[in-house]
Amino acid sequence: MSKIVMKTPIVEMDGDEMTRVIWKMIKDILILPFVDLKTEYYDLGLENREATKDQVTIDSAEATKKLGVAVKCATITPNAARVEEYGLSEMWKSPNGTIRAILDGTVFRAPILVKGITPYIPTWTKPITIARHAYGDIYKNTEMQVPSNSVCELVCTDNSGNETRNLIHKFGESGGVIQGVHNLDSSIESFARSCFNYALDTKQDVWFATKDTISKKYDHHFKDIFAEVFEKDYKTKFDEEGIEYFYTLIDDAVARVIRSEGGYIWACKNYDGDVMSDMVATAYGSLAMMTSVLVSPDGVYEYEAAHGTVQRHYYKHLKGEETSTNSVATIFAWSGALRKRGELDGISELSDFADRLEEATIRTIEDGVMTGDLALLSKLENKKKVNTETFLKEVANRLA
Ligand code: NAP
Ligand code: MG
Repeated sequence: MSKIVMKTPIVEMDGDEMTRVIWKMIKDILILPFVDLKTEYYDLGLENREATKDQVTIDSAEATKKLGVAVKCATITPNAARVEEYGLSEMWKSPNGTIRAILDGTVFRAPILVKGITPYIPTWTKPITIARHAYGDIYKNTEMQVPSNSVCELVCTDNSGNETRNLIHKFGESGGVIQGVHNLDSSIESFARSCFNYALDTKQDVWFATKDTISKKYDHHFKDIFAEVFEKDYKTKFDEEGIEYFYTLIDDAVARVIRSEGGYIWACKNYDGDVMSDMVATAYGSLAMMTSVLVSPDGVYEYEAAHGTVQRHYYKHLKGEETSTNSVATIFAWSGALRKRGELDGISELSDFADRLEEATIRTIEDGVMTGDLALLSKLENKKKVNTETFLKEVANRLA
C-alpha cells in the first residue's frame, strides 16, 4: 500500500511525560505506516525549553503562523516543584499561554462521544463545543479592600488629561471591597471572529450569552461587538450554510444548554468559560476524551488534547510498570491537524485518512477495547481493559 503524500508540513510540538511517550507511539503505530508525514518539529519538552531559554516555544508559534496548522503534545507548566525537579533557571511560563498570546487565538474544547459512555445529562447526544474568551475581565483585575467611611470612584483620564469620574460607592460604617476590570474592543472582536470562523468551519450554530441586563455598559459592549461583527461579515455566510448565531442572557443560556441535545458552539466570556468548560467536560464523562483547538482570527489552527501530561502514569511507566493511559484526545489532535492540512492543501486522501483514524479509534472503544479510565465508565458488557500500547495497536488493526 502506498503512503499518502503531503505537500505543506504541519508544525509538530512535542511535549512532556506520559503524553510524550504516547506521542511517539501514535506516530509509529498509527500515522507513519500510512502517511508520508511532513512536519516541522519543535521540542517543547521542558528540558529543551530550559536549554533554549523558552525560545523554542516562541519559534514554534511563529512557525504555526507561517504554516497555518500545528499539533501539540501536552507540556508541563512549571511550578516550584518542577523548578526543583528539572533544575530550571527560571519558572518558564505556560507554553499554551505563550502560543495563545502570539496567535491571538480562541480555544475551542469539544468532547469525543462514544457508545457505552452516557453523559451525566443523557439528552446530550452531540458534543457541546465551549469557546472561552481568554483575555481580561476578572483575570486582569485590580482589587482593593476599602476601610469604613471611604468614597470610591472609577476615574478615566484621557489622552488630553480630561477626567471622567463615576461613583462606585460611598462606604459608611461598614467598609468593604471593590474591583476594577477591563477588556479591549480588539480582543472581543478577535474572539467573535474566531467563533464565527470556527462555526463556518464545523457547520455549527454559535450561542453567546452575557449578563447585559445588569451590566448595561460592560457586558452590553460584548453583545454589541458580536452583533456588529456578525451583521457585517458573517450573516450572509451563515445563511448560506444554514447555521445560526443566537444571543441570549447567560442564565437563559445555562437553562437551554441543559435541555439541549448539544451540537453547537457555546461562546463564553472568560469567567463563564472557565466554570462552564469544567462543568461540560465532567458531564460528558472524561477529561481524557476532550479535544482542544486554538483558532486565530485569521484562520491558523493548533490542535491538542485538553488534558495534561498525566504525570502519575509517567512515574509508573518509568518504574517499568504497565500503564493504561488514554491516548484518544491526542490521536484526535493528530487527526484534526491532518484533516485541516488536507483541506488547506486540497489533499482529500489526507482528510479521508483523518476521518478513518477517528472512526477506527471510536470503533475500538465501541468494540469494548479501552483503557482503564474508560473501562470504569463504560456500560458495555464485553468491555476489556488494555494497556497504552495495545489500545493503539487495536486501533491500527481496524485502520488497516
Ligand atoms: P493531567 O495530566 O490532566 O492528569 C490529571 C489526572 O487525570 C491523571 O492523574 C489521571 O487520573 C487523569 N487523566 C488525565 N488525562 C488522562 C489520560 N489521557 N488517560 C488516563 N487518565 C488521564 O493533569 P495534572 O496531573 O494536573 O497535570 C500534569 C501536568 O500537566 C502538569 O505539569 C501541568 O502543568 C500539565 N498540564 C498541561 C496541559 C497542556 O499542555 N495543555 C494541560 C493541563 C495540565 P488518574 O491518576 O486517577 O489515573
Ligand atoms: Mg476552570
